[in-house]
Amino acid sequence: MAIRTRAAVLESKESPLLVREIGLKPPGPDEVLVKMEMAGLCRSDLNAITGHTRYNMPLVLGHEGAGRVVETGPGVTNLKCGDRVALSWAAYCAECYFCRREQTHLCSAVAWPRGRGLLPDGTTRFSDTKKEIYHFNGVSSLSEYTVVYKTGCVPVSEDVPLHIAAATGCSVVTAFGAVFRTAGEAMTCGATCMVVGGGCVGTAVIEALRLKGAGRIILIERDKKKWRSGVADNYGDSINKAETDEITNGVGPDIVFDCVASKETIAGSMAAVRRGGTVVMVGAPHPLMKIELNAVDFHLEKKLIGSLYGSSDPVRDMPRIFDLYEWGLLDLDEGQSRTYGLDDINLALTALEEQGGKITINFD
Ligand SMILES: [Zn+2]
Ligand SMILES: [Zn+2]
Repeated sequence: MAIRTRAAVLESKESPLLVREIGLKPPGPDEVLVKMEMAGLCRSDLNAITGHTRYNMPLVLGHEGAGRVVETGPGVTNLKCGDRVALSWAAYCAECYFCRREQTHLCSAVAWPRGRGLLPDGTTRFSDTKKEIYHFNGVSSLSEYTVVYKTGCVPVSEDVPLHIAAATGCSVVTAFGAVFRTAGEAMTCGATCMVVGGGCVGTAVIEALRLKGAGRIILIERDKKKWRSGVADNYGDSINKAETDEITNGVGPDIVFDCVASKETIAGSMAAVRRGGTVVMVGAPHPLMKIELNAVDFHLEKKLIGSLYGSSDPVRDMPRIFDLYEWGLLDLDEGQSRTYGLDDINLALTALEEQGGKITINFD
């Protein structure tokens, strides 16, 4: 049976979100109806508003969060009513060419509808009297209730605090995967690492690097307020090859995690990394951005590797991250999140834009 839900709706580009009641159809095959308890915000939500990403509108924003399963559609066997779950935008079909090669983050069946604001079957569950309302990244966590695909809905223990369960699905998984999966053998124990960008992703990359046995860590972050003592071993406000050479005895870092992925940071990272070293592009670039690189850097065996969602599978990898947190091996409380109610969503988005950091929306 269709229900009504209050949701934060983006009606058109560059407009404030409108919190209003809309309709939500029941979950179809392989789908799950979730009652949201908390949603996490990150830069992709702002990018949807500015038109950096091109989604159909009206659109219910939010692409990570945690809540409880209310109803499951046919074919859902791993979840039941009452289960506590965390949401991820990286749902996948489990059957396509990529999924069968353990690259679910590249799933071709789900990517196309996801980029258009549809669920994997190519339709929407949100609507109002006049028309369809679209799903942001297949999650739409800024709604009291949402319908998601089963592989983007991961069970989470009652012991994991709500703000951790809600704000892990995007930035933390991306960061961990970049270090533990995408980087592969390039990330060696004792490696000198440079992390570009000290926001949610960069901070989580540093946490993962410590666990992986990194040597010296250099953080490049232009906002000096984020140079918290003890987080990195050296800091810079822009990539300066002369400075990184000096820190690394003229060699350059072994590996760079570029969490910004702008033209400047990619070129700077490639210049700074040592001969034979690796740059992992962790951040999401503007879809139309082109980059220019020195071909001779590749002749010197420097490598530039792409990373989407840290090459992660949410069903496989999110429980491991929650385990690490519970075992005290991971400090995700760093820079505690600020919490707003759904009605204050526009204030929360302004705070995200102006101050960054972790921001969550509480549905109490
Ligand atoms: Zn697939
Ligand atoms: Zn995100």
